[in-house]
Amino acid sequence: MSTAPENTELEPVDAFRDRARRWLKENLPPASQSRLGVPDDESWDRARRLQRILSEGGFAGICFPKAYGGQGLTLAHQRAFTDESLGYEMPLELNVPTLAICAATLAELGTEEQKRTHLTAVLQGEEILAQFLSEPKGGSDLAGLTTRADRDGDDWILNGSKIWSSGAYGADYGLCLARTDWDVPKHNGLTMFLVPVHAPGVSIQRIKQVTGSTEFCQEFFDDVRLPADAVIGEVGGGWAATSRLLVHERAAMGGTSPYTSGRRPHLGADTNVLVDLARDTGRLDDPRVREDIGAARMMNVVRNQLIDHVTQAISSGAMPPAAGSVVRLFGAETTWQQTDSAMTIAGSAAVTGDADGPGIARIGLDYLFRNAWSLAGGSTEMARNIISERVLGMPREYAADRGVPFNQVKRGR
Ligand SMILES: Cc1cc2nc3c(=O)[nH]c(=O)nc-3n(C[C@H](O)[C@H](O)[C@H](O)COP(=O)(O)OP(=O)(O)OC[C@H]3O[C@@H](n4cnc5c(N)ncnc54)[C@H](O)[C@@H]3O)c2cc1C
Repeated sequence: MSTAPENTELEPVDAFRDRARRWLKENLPPASQSRLGVPDDESWDRARRLQRILSEGGFAGICFPKAYGGQGLTLAHQRAFTDESLGYEMPLELNVPTLAICAATLAELGTEEQKRTHLTAVLQGEEILAQFLSEPKGGSDLAGLTTRADRDGDDWILNGSKIWSSGAYGADYGLCLARTDWDVPKHNGLTMFLVPVHAPGVSIQRIKQVTGSTEFCQEFFDDVRLPADAVIGEVGGGWAATSRLLVHERAAMGGTSPYTSGRRPHLGADTNVLVDLARDTGRLDDPRVREDIGAARMMNVVRNQLIDHVTQAISSGAMPPAAGSVVRLFGAETTWQQTDSAMTIAGSAAVTGDADGPGIARIGLDYLFRNAWSLAGGSTEMARNIISERVLGMPREYAADRGVPFNQVKRGR
């Protein structure tokens, strides 16, 4: 049951923190080291159950509006809750993309009906959302996609394929960008849809990665019928919707999202882990190792300050929303530095342990996965382009298809 105060005034952050601390102790299990990896089938069910507990306790969706099951509180409340929740098992699988990206986009652009139905269900742990953006021919040129939705009366018929969709096999709906008008330049002919993952005509294949994880999916849409109210935002306004979604995605990747609770696994290691590792491998006195650990600590300090600085600058209007790319880029650099340091310290032990166990054995897998952090949420090269063009105001990159109707753009087969 919710322990939230009855009155409508905003609860002071300290009082909220105390209440959260007491509630977490009584209601959530302690964090389990063995659950820190990539989600598996069982972990989705567990995440849904944990989310339901948060919702019943009045701690789900701290920065989402109350009308849709959130708490209507501030970023400071969210941060206090995250601090307090670090020692407990949280539904981390739901943070990205469900809460930080898809639900945040729905909260901004959804119709009242979409918000009442889907946001509420997400915050109660009843719905999981996925992102259907990238396509087999490339993800960076997102506006050049070729999945199509054609009108049939009031309905739409969806055909095409999406790829690299994180956790789509465990999701209920996907936010899917499709081309609805081929006669206009590429950014103008797109519409975003809310697609039921288990609708007739949707098939999902899981992709096995080098780490052994099968979290990634490819979806095939064969004449999937969508009702008119599946459109998110405006028909033909898919790029505007996607631009908002990408702002939330960069915030999620950079660590500035106000919509997630609990530990953020992709934001670099807790550098105490590196110290423990150096001790366990007898390398704590090695000057090179000490230097690496120092650099990792420094990166964490800078990253945390950058998050605060950029978040404030964006909310005050001193920097454009595209500045989220600065934090996104630094987050990836931090993760790389720390993953590489862990690998250097662990040496051959990183590849010989039990891959499912905690500790040293995971380091080899983290190392294999580290490239993902400079691709997920848009690549670091694209982040550099965005910073130069939209934050620093440098000239735009040349594009042969700019302003050209999409059906006249030359494309490979
Ligand atoms: C962990 C993870 C989770 C993901 N989850 C999802 C998801 O849930 N849903 C989804 O839709 N997608 C998802 N993706 C896909 C991700 O969005 C794409 O990988 C990303 O946008 C890059 O697209 P691509 O892989 O097709 O690379 P490409 O676009 O083919 O690019 C290949 C390389 O060329 C570089 N490049 C391309 N164009 C330029 C340019 N103009 N200037 C400079 N360099 C350029 C890129 O930076 C990259 O290094 C995920 C990816 C990862 C790694």
